[in-house]
Amino acid sequence: MRRKIVAGNYKMNLNPAEVAELFDGITDYHFIEENKEMKVFPPFIYLSEALAKLGKSPITVGAQNGYFEAKGAFTGEISMAQLKAFEVESVLVGHSERREIFGEDNAIIKKKVDAALAEGLEVIFCCGEPLEVREEGTQKDFVIKQLEESLFHLSAEQMKNVVIAYEPIWAIGTGKTASSAQADEMHKDIRAAIAGKYSEDVAQSTSILYGGSVKPDNAVELFACENVDGGLVGGACLKAADFIAIANAL
Ligand code: PEP
Repeated sequence: MRRKIVAGNYKMNLNPAEVAELFDGITDYHFIEENKEMKVFPPFIYLSEALAKLGKSPITVGAQNGYFEAKGAFTGEISMAQLKAFEVESVLVGHSERREIFGEDNAIIKKKVDAALAEGLEVIFCCGEPLEVREEGTQKDFVIKQLEESLFHLSAEQMKNVVIAYEPIWAIGTGKTASSAQADEMHKDIRAAIAGKYSEDVAQSTSILYGGSVKPDNAVELFACENVDGGLVGGACLKAADFIAIANAL
């Protein structure tokens, strides 16, 4: 059975008091069913507190980014090796904000995927098309190219440590959600590409999350789709009650 996951990307939000309140608000939450998971991705400066407060709960703590070099003169960066040594379990790679604002292309993202997996971190691999690509109708080719150039060099064994998050850029932080049919169709295409590259077995065991304006009131419909295994949530993860409501929709 595929893992069902709800993951919260805090981005560059929250002051120390707000983040403490948010961690307290979700600490007691845990899934009863074994294949359901909650993950949080706070800013680096809050990872220590996240691990102290949530590390012993079933909630896993991840980082929003990591650099592919292990150490050295890379001012402002944090390496995957440092994250692992810090006991962080997962890392987001390829988020559209990293791609668009910080110029990370498929080649850089591939290096980050490799570095994270080499350190034993779980990779939440983000992919998704911009609005103009969706309007042209070439979104499937666009997303499959992202997978081919940054992910499909991995072995089937390595894919066990990868979760895919399909996040259409036009739906991120815009309040515009992909319809459940649009999400399910792309997830199905991604799964078919994984089956083609690896095997039906790998495709059926890879969790594919949807991200883009997931809220308590649309999560039930999105998560009910056959190929949607949960969500990567931005804005709505900043309130404990909303994040828990979304998690309850899994
Ligand atoms: C995200 O940044 O991964 C995201 C999905 O954001 P939002 O939920 O705010 O659209």
